[in-house]
Amino acid sequence: MRETAFVIGGCNAFPMHDPESKRLALHLLTTGFTVDSVARRTGIPRSTLWRWKQNPERAAALVPRLCPRCHDRALDPTAYAYLLGLYLGDGSIANAPGNKGVFRLEIACDDGWPGLIDAAATTILAVMPGSKVGRRQCPGCTSVNCYSKHWPCLFPQHGPGMKHTRKIELVSWQQEIVDEFTKEFVRGLIHSDGCRGINKVRREVAGEDRWYEYPRYFFTNTSVDIRRLYTDALDRLGIEWKQANARNISVAKREAVARLDEFVGPKY
Ligand SMILES: [Zn+2]
Repeated sequence: MRETAFVIGGCNAFPMHDPESKRLALHLLTTGFTVDSVARRTGIPRSTLWRWKQNPERAAALVPRLCPRCHDRALDPTAYAYLLGLYLGDGSIANAPGNKGVFRLEIACDDGWPGLIDAAATTILAVMPGSKVGRRQCPGCTSVNCYSKHWPCLFPQHGPGMKHTRKIELVSWQQEIVDEFTKEFVRGLIHSDGCRGINKVRREVAGEDRWYEYPRYFFTNTSVDIRRLYTDALDRLGIEWKQANARNISVAKREAVARLDEFVGPKY
């Protein structure tokens, strides 16, 4: 039952009138709890609760629907597929300091690509509307972050330790999104752990060395599972790839690079 999502113990961790307290209060008011008891449990003033009780539909419209998994809020699948790629590449989820039950999603973005820093922030907001997205400067990179109780609902791959030390596999609803929005997923992976570079190759022609340059996409990740998710997505798109070495996947054939250029291109 959805009621189990409204765990009373979590409320004290939030200031008054935060979206979850509002949601809890409305739920309790519309299921027969008295204004006094709801005021005690949520800390929301009785006068406010009386107004909500008189017009619950209007009050409900004021409450942002937070989590696509717990609250039936529609998920933007395009943004989610891209964010999933970013998360699997350079993202992490951790307990927020001092805030029991709240998690911080962080995407580490290279300072060399300011456009991608903005794209990460915009995408987080599209996935978790109404949230506050922060930026924290680290050596050489900007950590784009956002706090929510619900990041583990959206990224069930969250777990202790580094991603490459544990099994990473998509659950069925994620796989459905990745299957449909494969290009966005690949874009997210390449924007975090990939690059489009120029490869120089020396060839001997008529006894002379000649150098040729051609563009190539590289994807580098220590996790064999994440590399497999990447290559599965490329297979799905019919894009040829090669295992360049233990940690790197290369896309170098002219037509395969052209396909990736259609929806990924250089970082910006
Ligand atoms: Zn949730």
